[in-house]
Amino acid sequence: MLASTFELFRVGIGPSSSHTVGPMRAARRVSEALRDAPVRELRVVLHGSLALTGRGHGTDRALVAGLLGEDPETVDPAAVLALERVPATVRLHGREVAYWLDLQTRGGPVGHPNAMRFVAVGDDGAVLADRTFRSIGGGFVTEDGVPDERAPVDLPHAYASAAELLACADALGSVSAVTAANEAARRPAEELEPALRAIARAMDEAIERGLRAEGVLPGPLGVRRRAARLLADLAAPGQDGPLEALEWVGLWAMAVNEENAAGGRIVTAPTNGAAGILPAVLRYAQTFEGAGDDDAARMLLAASAVGALIKDKASISGAEVGCQGEVGSAAAMAAAALAEALGGTPAQVLNAAEIALEHHLGMTCDPIAGLVQVPCIERNAIGAGKAIAAAKLALRGDGRHVVSLDSAIEAMRRTGLDMNDKYKETSRGGLAVSVPAC
Ligand code: SF4
Repeated sequence: MLASTFELFRVGIGPSSSHTVGPMRAARRVSEALRDAPVRELRVVLHGSLALTGRGHGTDRALVAGLLGEDPETVDPAAVLALERVPATVRLHGREVAYWLDLQTRGGPVGHPNAMRFVAVGDDGAVLADRTFRSIGGGFVTEDGVPDERAPVDLPHAYASAAELLACADALGSVSAVTAANEAARRPAEELEPALRAIARAMDEAIERGLRAEGVLPGPLGVRRRAARLLADLAAPGQDGPLEALEWVGLWAMAVNEENAAGGRIVTAPTNGAAGILPAVLRYAQTFEGAGDDDAARMLLAASAVGALIKDKASISGAEVGCQGEVGSAAAMAAAALAEALGGTPAQVLNAAEIALEHHLGMTCDPIAGLVQVPCIERNAIGAGKAIAAAKLALRGDGRHVVSLDSAIEAMRRTGLDMNDKYKETSRGGLAVSVPAC
């Protein structure tokens, strides 16, 4: 089933949707199911990318927070950072339970690389629960052997390709109208606009927090936060050069991703690692193109139409297809959003998404030290700029292009399949091994 706008854009905490938000959600579900069970010990086993980069991505603390019943949307980010990474015991609903965390970097269950297994043993030594989850990107979690837990929804426009999306959008007048009609099948229509405004507001607040914060990001790299200093530079007199807008866009994207890297509150768009691109392009549209609140809502809907399609047909997970699935998808979504706000036809909007995605194909995920910092933060600044360029280019054409959005998504999927695991959020290749250890 196509992902909802409010599944793609969810308020959560940094630094990673797949490695922080997803594991917290899975742990919370396990904890909830064990509420009245006589649990004596709990073992969590992380596989693949979660085992390799989980520490840098805060997976360990996220698991503990989830077991304590915390939800990524409401948890205090500072409280998560204050948790012990792997405590000897965790308190499950008033009961002190022995706790182990195993990292298995080789082998593991077949399927998505972000597998995590929870094994709970009772007072009498019997296994009370043995559940395997996959964190498939964007905070989405699936459980092996358990069907999609979302209630089935009869979507009026259940498009299965960009071509079908285009046909629906042509019939309704816009890409955003297709998503709006689908969302109306999920919630009362009058709730849609306020909910979209709340998402846009949360994105904007993440920019503002990022612009105000200074200091050094967590982790061994000692990366200094740059947004506040860049803001002072750009706001100084005489800085309005020919690329002024591009500089602001880069700053806004970096502000969000520094906030994400610090474990702060951001909105997945569609993931944490790529969370800066859409907020930056939204603010660009409002600051430099005269877009208003209504336009912001339509932009989110258009972006969501593209994001849902990419998630359905390929992946938005860096651990599955590399950074093309995170920053590439975010840029495609933002390009579609901007083209929609600037009055593009449905063909131009989807062409904008295609151009942005096409020029991220093959991009690997190689975070240094397993942290969502380098190259991730700057990558959002560059991705946001590319999204704007793609939208502008598409708006100069008639929507026809040698490469269709369907072809670009399929190329991304195949490229991801061919990509060596070293380049899929394992920190075993690329920049992660090319930069001397600090
Ligand atoms: S390199 Fe890209 S995919 Fe990998 S963690 Fe950073 S933003 Fe996410």
